[in-house]
Amino acid sequence: MQIGCHVSISGSIDKAVDNAVERKCSAFQIFTRNPRGWHAKELTKEDIANFKSKLKESKIDRFATCAHMPYLPNLASPKDDGFEKSVETLMSETERCAQLGIPYLVTHLGSHLGTGEEAGIKRLVEGLTKAGQTKNDVIILLENTAGQKNSVGSDFKQLGEIFSQLKPAKKFGICFDSCHAFVAGYNLKTEKKVKDVFDEFEKYVGIKNLKILHLNDAKGDVGCNLDRHYHLGLGGIGEKGIASIVKFATKQKIPIILETPIDDDRDDFENVRIAKGFA
Ligand SMILES: [Zn+2]
Ligand SMILES: [Zn+2]
Repeated sequence: MQIGCHVSISGSIDKAVDNAVERKCSAFQIFTRNPRGWHAKELTKEDIANFKSKLKESKIDRFATCAHMPYLPNLASPKDDGFEKSVETLMSETERCAQLGIPYLVTHLGSHLGTGEEAGIKRLVEGLTKAGQTKNDVIILLENTAGQKNSVGSDFKQLGEIFSQLKPAKKFGICFDSCHAFVAGYNLKTEKKVKDVFDEFEKYVGIKNLKILHLNDAKGDVGCNLDRHYHLGLGGIGEKGIASIVKFATKQKIPIILETPIDDDRDDFENVRIAKGFA
């Protein structure tokens, strides 16, 4: 069982490991830098050494850790400058992961900004393929989307079509986000429905390509396309569905990472504890 949550790197990057240990995580996700800007300060030798030694001490398996891309890049952008900057960021983030010993980097698939799915996917595949040429062995994970306006990759069939075009294949994998799948129209409310959804995922994308599972309940109901994460069991997916997803991921040995909110109702300490309870 590998279960944890997204943790903050505030202060210094090694603090992420402290935060994970404090929350009793056996898996975790970080941003390698401020996710809201384009600029990233280079990691120092000290940053890297401290992060690695704390991770070793923590006994958390390095293959249960991942980083998430910052928010600004748009790999499906029709605008040349925005697209190029996005691909550069993706490449430099894989380098940062490699320096830290993090094997996976989760990326969103971007927005075609009204130019259409075909044009967006063409850009996306071009950008990912370029990033796949980097010399490091970090695996880029494509995250299924919530199906917001102008987005691509919420539908498993389409996600599979994008994925199958990427080369070299060993440089790419998938991150399944339960909130995104649910609001994109995949009903995950019961054990049977969860099984059906993963059967469909297997058919179009392949469960063997699934390296990380983002476990989030959804603020809205099935098919609402609203990307609002919620506390486990308290949202549209509900307790039965969330428990079934946890069991599926645990059985398949896929690390589970929570991206649930922190508010008056619950914090991440409690959501992690609840997720473990379902396993
Ligand atoms: Zn994401
Ligand atoms: Zn996610």
